[in-house]
Amino acid sequence: MGKKTSIGRLVYRGVACLLAFLLLCGMCLIPSKNRVKEEDQVEAFIDRTFTALTQNETPTSVFAVWYPKLAAKERSAVDFVESVVYSPSFLEKRYPDSRIVELIYVAMVDHLPDDATEAKYTEYLDEKVSERYLLQELSKDPDYSDLCTRYDVLPGTFSAKEPRDQDPEVTLALGRLYFAVRGMHPDSEEVNTWTERFLKQEASVMDFIEQYSAEIPKDPSGNELAPIISCMLEREVTSSELEEYAALLEQGVSSDYVLHQVCESGEFREHWLSQGIEPGTFELTQQRDLNVELTSFISRFYLCLTGRKATEDELNSGISRVLSHEVKIQTMLAEVLDTPESQALLSDNSAFLDAVYEVLYGEKPDPATVEGYLIGLNNGVLRSRILEEIAKDPAFDEQMKAYGFDTSSEKVIPEKMVALTFDDGPYTPVTFRIMDMLEAYGAHATFFVIGNRVANYPECLIRAVNLGCEIGNHTWNHTKLTKLSGSAVAQQIADCDQAVYNICGFHTRLMRPMGGSFNSTVAANVGLPMIMWCIDTNDWRYKDTNHIITEILDNVKDGDIILMHDIYECTADAMEVVIPELISRGYTLVTVSELAEYKGKELQNGESYRSIRGG
Ligand code: ZN
Repeated sequence: MGKKTSIGRLVYRGVACLLAFLLLCGMCLIPSKNRVKEEDQVEAFIDRTFTALTQNETPTSVFAVWYPKLAAKERSAVDFVESVVYSPSFLEKRYPDSRIVELIYVAMVDHLPDDATEAKYTEYLDEKVSERYLLQELSKDPDYSDLCTRYDVLPGTFSAKEPRDQDPEVTLALGRLYFAVRGMHPDSEEVNTWTERFLKQEASVMDFIEQYSAEIPKDPSGNELAPIISCMLEREVTSSELEEYAALLEQGVSSDYVLHQVCESGEFREHWLSQGIEPGTFELTQQRDLNVELTSFISRFYLCLTGRKATEDELNSGISRVLSHEVKIQTMLAEVLDTPESQALLSDNSAFLDAVYEVLYGEKPDPATVEGYLIGLNNGVLRSRILEEIAKDPAFDEQMKAYGFDTSSEKVIPEKMVALTFDDGPYTPVTFRIMDMLEAYGAHATFFVIGNRVANYPECLIRAVNLGCEIGNHTWNHTKLTKLSGSAVAQQIADCDQAVYNICGFHTRLMRPMGGSFNSTVAANVGLPMIMWCIDTNDWRYKDTNHIITEILDNVKDGDIILMHDIYECTADAMEVVIPELISRGYTLVTVSELAEYKGKELQNGESYRSIRGG
């Protein structure tokens, strides 16, 4: 009985198990039950995603639109995320960028980003990379596929289409560049336009900077350029670099020059090429940016002579005039010195000379060097004449060469020239008439003055100097030198020279013996070149205006030295004819020293010269 019972129990248990198994199997095979479970997951996905992103309840309209598409796997999960992120419900929340990153993270991968990642994406959004870039990146995340599997939705692939999303580092660099140059952030359209041009290599970084270069201050401090330069190099500008830029700007170049320097650096080129962006080049257009040494010099001279910085126009026009030989450096100095601001600053003659030497040589002059200039200035010699004189020093040419300017290219040698010389003055009534003609024709002449007359006619010497004429030494009292001892000869010359120096501050560099007579004692003791003549007008003998005119005009040749005396009215009368006629024949009327210089002849002390023809 017991055995029967146990067999029956076994059968019963087997049947029960079988039934339970069949029941289970049957339940699993009921199709409708199975579908309901899947539909719940999609619905749950829509609900959680929408709420995660917007913190709102999911409207039924959203279910209505998206449920069928997601359920049928016609659309992917990331498409849905995109539609929510760009929906009014999301946009009107005006989340800060970091919150947007967090919300999208939770929605797509169900956790928050780490701090570094959050910071990175926040910066991207801040610089106008779109949310779509973040969607694209997260759609590749394994956590995202897990989540989609869990909710049985299609993960999908996603690629952002806008140029600004193609390479966030490029977008970022553009945004920084834009802000540095323009002081504001670009809008999405500008970002797309420029990024696209960059990516297609239709525009370079320098094209961008040039496009907006009008907005960059042209005369900034180094600090103002620092943000632009740090963008160009994508690193902080060092303080030593800043000092270097500030020094360049201080020298008078424009901001273009500094940007050009950065642009030419290997660092700039390498950086942008590594980003796949054409660095480009920067054309310099301003004169002041083309020759830095000269610019620096001209800036310095404005600063020293006017007490203020040169303007952009002053620098550009000054440099172009000097380089095109429209004006000599010393003439330009004179122009600046002539301005009211300069005259106010340098009203004192010593201050004027100090400033000029400071400009030219970077130091104050040796007092002995400028003693004569001060005498002349205090007696009425023009500052422009002093500048001409200073420019005759070979040190001036050397210094200009160091500033990048070759003064020798300024020298224009006249084709034909002649030296008019006048002895035995000064004598204002006649000398001034001659000077009137010289002045009217921009002509120069040499006045061999008698020392003991000089103090009576100081105005003659000053005017001669101011006209660019030369004062020669015609002895102290017009003594026949051949009768004198060597020391007496020397004394005659020294006394006349001192008289001249006392008035105009210039030493005599040439002499003419009375009557043109000299011997070996004279030659050995005059200590100056002895200037004779090849045309003698005999004005002192005949006092005949026509004779003077004919003698000169019938005989004159290039390189002649013509003898006259500025104490006879007939000589002045003759000059009213001779000077215009010589000019119209193409002669340049020069001083004897100029004649020697143009003919390339170095005059020797104690040597006599009748003409100077060079060669
Ligand atoms: Zn004489």
